[in-house]
Parts: sequence; structure tokens; C-alpha cells
Amino acid sequence: EYYFNANLKNIPPSASLAVSEKARELKKKGIDVITLATGEPDFDTPYAARFAAVKALVEGHTHYSQARGIEELRDCIAKKLRKENGISCDSQQILLTPGAKYAVYEAIAVLVTPQSGDEVMILNPAWVSYGPMVIAAGGVPVEVGLSFENNYKISREILEQHVSERTRALIINYPNNPTGCILTEEEAQIVADFAITHNLIVISDEIYERICFDGRKNKSLASIEKVKDRVITINGFSKSMAMTGWRIGYLCGPQQLIDKALLYSQHTISCLSDFCQEGAAASFECQEEAEEMVKSYQNQRDMFVGKLNEIPHVTCHLPQGAFYAWAKFELGDMDSVAVSEFLLEKAHVATVPGASYGKGTDKCVRMSFATAEKDLQEAAKRIDSAVRTYL
Ligand code: PLP
Repeated sequence: EYYFNANLKNIPPSASLAVSEKARELKKKGIDVITLATGEPDFDTPYAARFAAVKALVEGHTHYSQARGIEELRDCIAKKLRKENGISCDSQQILLTPGAKYAVYEAIAVLVTPQSGDEVMILNPAWVSYGPMVIAAGGVPVEVGLSFENNYKISREILEQHVSERTRALIINYPNNPTGCILTEEEAQIVADFAITHNLIVISDEIYERICFDGRKNKSLASIEKVKDRVITINGFSKSMAMTGWRIGYLCGPQQLIDKALLYSQHTISCLSDFCQEGAAASFECQEEAEEMVKSYQNQRDMFVGKLNEIPHVTCHLPQGAFYAWAKFELGDMDSVAVSEFLLEKAHVATVPGASYGKGTDKCVRMSFATAEKDLQEAAKRIDSAVRTYL
């Protein structure tokens, strides 16, 4: 028996990895499983970004770089945030991190004093890692369950029901993984007023912000003047530029908070790799490719969600952003884990059970439509016949 960090006792194993494991076992047996469980674009990183990274590598840009991130990239990001998101900031307020994931973790670690009872509210359904990250940082996650029937609308009442003297921060994520909801102007105002009333910081994870459909735009919370000093915006390159393996994300927020996060970077990661950052800077010239990806996700969404809604006992709201179909399967008393197992065993389609996304997720599963069209067509067909056979 080893002595270990007691916080780890409260971190559950990843349910999505459990599904992937089962899917792998079936594949080993020669069964053709279609995997809709991963959250990753099925495109290559745009060529210009790859080329710029290789060039920088060959030219020897292979040493430690600035802990904040290279200036050229921070300049590009600050310009983008001002122009596309209406966030007034300069490049000193940007801190590069290895993926948006670590950016979220640093933001939490800056705001929570370990084991003091500090709470962080998380709007549910929520990406699987927020709760464990709060626990890892020594805080207490508080789940705020929004409801499927209401298409996960935020209300002031539900926020008020979960706030306490100990609340330090609220994590929001729009466009949302897994529901595909985007933040409306009205909801942004509700969150802003709530944060001001209770003196909270909002961590706004906008990693899917470029992936919005039907000409819609996601509202960046930090673009609202009255709340901008209370918002840490998180974004990155993984989803919008198909750069998941490059591990580049960032935080943008009030200078004092960013400078505290910088301390974490200095003592934990030192810096990101120089040549990858140069590649990321070049990706700002790849807007056309990024837009093509969004168009393709939109077509796949229309086809796949349309087909899901034709299946009896299945309801799927049309996602407005990100690349996930979040569908409710009302099959007797099956909960989301049972539905996901049923789909894997009977339809040979791997999905993520809703239970991993916290409250408000009963009977739902998440399916990524950033998947080849022919696989999506086939998956929809298989799900349809598995459900009809079950009934
Ligand atoms: N935030 C959300 C909501 C995500 O879904 C993901 C990836 O799945 C991330 C952050 C992580 O992004 P990155 O690859 O930049 O760490």
C-alpha cells in the first residue's frame, strides 16, 4: 500500500475510456465497430500550419521559449480575440498552455485554495474533466443540473440555488460539449449579473467557439463590458484547426490572474515547444480550411441528427455548435450507461454514456459527428434497426 494524495479518492475513472476499452475488445474479435465516442476532428491540420512548424523545427527553433508563450503567437491571439470575439485585451493577457485542458486547470488552481472548502460551480451537462480538475486542485465541484426538456437554458433561479458563501468560480462551456448549445445574449447577461452579484470569477471555456452552425455566433462572455474583469476566457487550436495532438491552448483574462497562472506554468511546464507555437501562429492564415471543416460538420449534423430523430423513442435537439449529437433514448428503464452498452452490443456503435457528463443527462448518449459521412450513415442505420428490434 502506497501513501497517495487523498484527493485522488474522489476522482472517478473515465466512463468514455471504459467504452473505448470495450469497443477495442469487440474489434479484436473481428467485429466492425463504428466509433462515435471520440471528441476529435477527422481532418488533417491545415498544411500551412504543418509546414511552418516543420520549417521552424528544421531551422533549429527547438529550445526553451517564453513561459507566457512566444510573442508572435500571443499577438495573433490577442488580435483574434479583439476582432472576432469583442474581447478587449493585449498580448500580455494571453498565457499559452499545453492544450485548453491545462488552461482550465491553471484557472481553477489560481482561484481555489486547496482543502479550504472553496467551491466551483459547473453547469451540467459538462465536459468530463471539469469536476476531476476542481478536485485535483483541492476544491469542491458543485454541479448545476440544467434540463434536456428545456434545451439546457440557463436561468438565474437555478444558479442562485447552487451558490454559497464558499463559491469562488463558475465554469461555463459554450458551444457546449456535449449538448451543442451556444450561449445566447440573454443567457450571457444572466451569467454576468450573477457573477457580479456574488463576486465570482467565470471560467468560460470557448474551445468550440469557431464551430457554430446556421450562421450563428457564440457570445463571448468577456465581451460584456460590465463583467469583463471577472472572466477568464479559455480557447485553443485543437478543435477549430484540427490540432489536437499539438497541445496548444490558452487563457485570456485580467492581468493579475494571468500573472498568477504564469507562476504555475513556470514551475510545472516551463513553456510550450517553440516550433509548435510557430505552426499555430501560421494557422491564422488557414481560415478557409477552418470554414470548410465547419461546413462539413454542419452537413453531417443535418444528415445524422435528422436520421436519429426518425428513430422511435429517440429525441435529439439540433446542436448549434461543437460536433456532438446528444440524443435521448427512452427505452424502458435503461439509463444512459445501459443505452450506451446496448448500442455497442446490438448496433456495434460506440457512444459515450450521458452519466459521465453529470446531472441532467439521464438516458442521453453523446455521439461525435466529426466522423466520415459513410460511417455516420451506417451508424444511423444500425442504431435504427437495433432500437426497432428491441421494441
Ligand atoms: N474543453 C472542452 C469542452 C473539450 O471538449 C475539450 C476536449 O475534448 C477540451 C477543453 C480540451 O482541449 P485541448 O485539446 O485543447 O486540451
